[in-house]
Amino acid sequence: MTRSLTILGATGSIGRSTADVVLAHQDEFRVQAVVGGRDAAALAKVARQLGAKFAALADEREGDALKQALSGTSIESGAGPTAVLEAVERDADIVLAAISGTAGLAPTHAALKPGRRIALANKESLVCAGNAFMADARRLGVEIMPVDSEHNALDHALAAGLNRDVEKAVITASGGPFRTWSRERIARASAKEASAHPVWSMGSKINIDSATLMNKGLELIEAHHLFDLEAERLGVLVHPEAIVHGLVQWSDGAVTSGLALPDMKVPIANALRNQRRLKMDLPRLDLAAIGRLSFERPDEGRFPCLSLAKAALKAGGALPTILNAANEIAVEAFMADQIRFYDISEIVERVCSTFSGRNIPAPATVAEALGVDQEARQAAGHLIPAYAEVTRL
Ligand code: NAD
Ligand code: MG
Repeated sequence: MTRSLTILGATGSIGRSTADVVLAHQDEFRVQAVVGGRDAAALAKVARQLGAKFAALADEREGDALKQALSGTSIESGAGPTAVLEAVERDADIVLAAISGTAGLAPTHAALKPGRRIALANKESLVCAGNAFMADARRLGVEIMPVDSEHNALDHALAAGLNRDVEKAVITASGGPFRTWSRERIARASAKEASAHPVWSMGSKINIDSATLMNKGLELIEAHHLFDLEAERLGVLVHPEAIVHGLVQWSDGAVTSGLALPDMKVPIANALRNQRRLKMDLPRLDLAAIGRLSFERPDEGRFPCLSLAKAALKAGGALPTILNAANEIAVEAFMADQIRFYDISEIVERVCSTFSGRNIPAPATVAEALGVDQEARQAAGHLIPAYAEVTRL
């Protein structure tokens, strides 16, 4: 039985891996729509490859370029927020949500339709508006399948028992490019050095989040919403080989874990599967060849973003929303070489502490979440010039 699929963020790292999975299983999927940010040529290319019916670009100004790039095909196209919404509204059994950042929240939320599956890569949707997003998904009967490798592994592992018997669910981190660097050396690191991920090849924002370990912090918050596990039952383990992605320790002492070679096509294939798993022609995990796997505790002294995210998860209310917004602004400034590495955590911490006195409750709707998000972005934005000034000196 073929199933229809829409890909949000089709030109990105996850989007392209998804295209590879779909191209290897053309008899199983019909691609309804593909959505991209602003690269008309890249979107047209993936739309042609996949034989999509509709292509939508978020950037209105690139609409003509997209149309031109698709000329000679029967693929319809559009640009701007309405076109993105149209893509999301078109009939699809599965929507793979892989727009990066909080920009993905509105389209991913709009994709919640009864009976649909959302293969969710955009973790920021859950960090920014987890309560509202999950409540709407439950109310509408939408299946949420995590694409994030750690959550995909946990999803498997958790199927071995009941939620109340979970003592601890642990996600692993490769440790990023600075795992073995001293604090002094990390403090001077450039955006280019932070982008050089040792294991995974990913989009630029998540690369920086991996270097600060904020990515793991966001993933703890993501896991909390996906699996209904409170902060005390969630943990992080650094595992440089990135083979074991998630572990569940049960009340009887048994541990169930999810392993795979670090290739996002594996969790993507799993999130797209029907009853049967897809057959993937990828290298197989050869543990004897790898020989040994190593694990260590994360160093929150060198990677303060992880403790900030943990604190936000524990404190609850709107703090995860605020943390996520401040982080996006700070990461943008770091990628533009305006601020230094540890300015990211400092800015996030300052914005969180400014807001924490107000005890803003967890946003009950996506609109509310986006309101808090805007406020926190502004607060972070106000802090950037002073840090940028020091960086210039
Ligand atoms: P990326 O930067 O490579 O791609 C982002 C995609 O989103 C692109 O197609 C871009 O055009 C599109 N986009 C950006 N802004 C948009 C907007 N306003 N409207 C519509 N489209 C827009 O990012 P990525 O690495 O593929 O990550 C995508 C998401 O998946 C992120 O939320 C990330 O945290 C998550 N994720 C990624 C990986 C990975 O290995 N790359 C792993 C786990 C989770
Ligand atoms: Mg991950």
